[in-house]
Amino acid sequence: MIDYQLYIDGEFCEAADGNRFTSTNPANGEVWATAPAATEADVDRAVDAAHTALHEGEWATWTPTQRGRALYRLADLVEAHSGRLGEIETTDSGKLGAETKAQTAYVADYYRYYAGLADKIQGATLPIDKPEMHVFTSREPVGVVAAVVPWNAEMFLTATKVGPALAAGCTVVLKASEVAPASLLEFAKLVDHAGFPSGVVNIITGFGEPCGRALTSHQKVARVAFTGGPETARHIVRNTAENFAVVSLELGGKSPLIIFEDADFEGAVNGAVAGNFGATGQSCVAGSRVMVQAAVYDAFVEEIARRADAIRIGDPLDADTQVGPLATQDQLDRCERIVAASVSEGATLVAGGSRPDGFEEGLYFEPTVLVCPDQGVSSVRTELFGPVMSVLRFDTEEEAVALANDTAFGLGAGVFTENVSRALRVSKAIRSGIVWVNTYRAISPISPFGGFGQSGYGREAGMDVIHDYTRTKTVWINTSSEPMANPFIMR
Ligand code: NAD
Repeated sequence: MIDYQLYIDGEFCEAADGNRFTSTNPANGEVWATAPAATEADVDRAVDAAHTALHEGEWATWTPTQRGRALYRLADLVEAHSGRLGEIETTDSGKLGAETKAQTAYVADYYRYYAGLADKIQGATLPIDKPEMHVFTSREPVGVVAAVVPWNAEMFLTATKVGPALAAGCTVVLKASEVAPASLLEFAKLVDHAGFPSGVVNIITGFGEPCGRALTSHQKVARVAFTGGPETARHIVRNTAENFAVVSLELGGKSPLIIFEDADFEGAVNGAVAGNFGATGQSCVAGSRVMVQAAVYDAFVEEIARRADAIRIGDPLDADTQVGPLATQDQLDRCERIVAASVSEGATLVAGGSRPDGFEEGLYFEPTVLVCPDQGVSSVRTELFGPVMSVLRFDTEEEAVALANDTAFGLGAGVFTENVSRALRVSKAIRSGIVWVNTYRAISPISPFGGFGQSGYGREAGMDVIHDYTRTKTVWINTSSEPMANPFIMR
């Protein structure tokens, strides 16, 4: 059993009231770690530490180049410890070890990308319309950042917030999810080693109430970077009515993956497998509405059912496992409930649909394929966050685009076609933040990530994001040799 601690103002500590909660390994149901449940008093302490570090501490005197160097050190530490961090994330969340280790190693590149941007944040001298005025702008750190992340891909979703925040000169209070807090509390040890002044990065964990609410409504928080579900996002937006913090929301999706008859068939099937069964389907960009053109529809259904049935379910730390457990009992119940509802609404199960035999101690659900008559079926309309694919048939390109856009979400989309003009037409017509053509779930620190509509607003990754962690200051200097004119004497 590992007992983790909060990281506040450069110290590892307990929650003010000493309360802890347990973390369960979803692969075997065993409690393997505990973490402190941060209270309002802990949130106050963490935000105060971040606020003091921002305005009074050594951090405030660091040049952008120094900030970049510290981020490079953090990147090296993350890379060196990616195996261990990945293992911890897997034990905590059930996500495949192969994925958590590879993703954590890649996370180092996100810190490097923002390390490189730290000294490229520039203001401007303005060609002002008054001859005796010199006017320039500078970009200052926006303030204390509250970064709130969910349980899936925690190291990655932290890097996309903490990287640009620190590069811009902000200080951070990072809140780990109560479902899988361990990897971020372990990450705190690397932050401590990287040499940031005390209070620059604080890492806490606890429940939405009181910890998440107290953090996101705190008067000294200027920016909230949130990834999670739409219901929590509504709370966050209401919480920030208290402090007017600038908010970015990375929420869920019900992303379409369109397979045209001219697509490379094998590539398209691999795309659908990656988009639905990668990360055990617990991915915000899961391409869980698979739309297939009539001419290849039957062949696709047959092949995807075969591929789903052949997937190796098992211990997520075993290198041969392809699909592991779901993270929580709620996730499992939700998959069972929605699959059952979808069948009663007219969908046909062609693969999976139940808990697999022999895995009763863990939170496992079979890779599942539902053939759906229309988009009214529950599995097509609801984000499942599990290994459940809904397949729909279409005849024309116009129909495919209309089906794809018939959703309140707009995070990702996949288009499989060998026709370049069609790829461009359809990418343009689909209303979503990301479109992948003949690939799926590709990410990079260089490429903006985020959604439209109910999938949220704001972007993570990419160059422009750095500006979301700054605010503009405009300085006017009167260069005239004369004193400022009397305002009551008009000339
Ligand atoms: P969640 O919304 O339940 O929790 C996310 C975080 O918010 C947790 O740390 C939680 O403690 C905190 N929280 C809960 N109530 C709060 C409140 N009132 N105020 C402030 N914080 C509060 O999400 P989850 O179940 O952990 O994660 C799954 C969701 O995350 C899915 O909808 C998924 O699509 C989404 N997600 C989105 C992306 C993306 O980049 N777009 C990536 C991964 C996951």
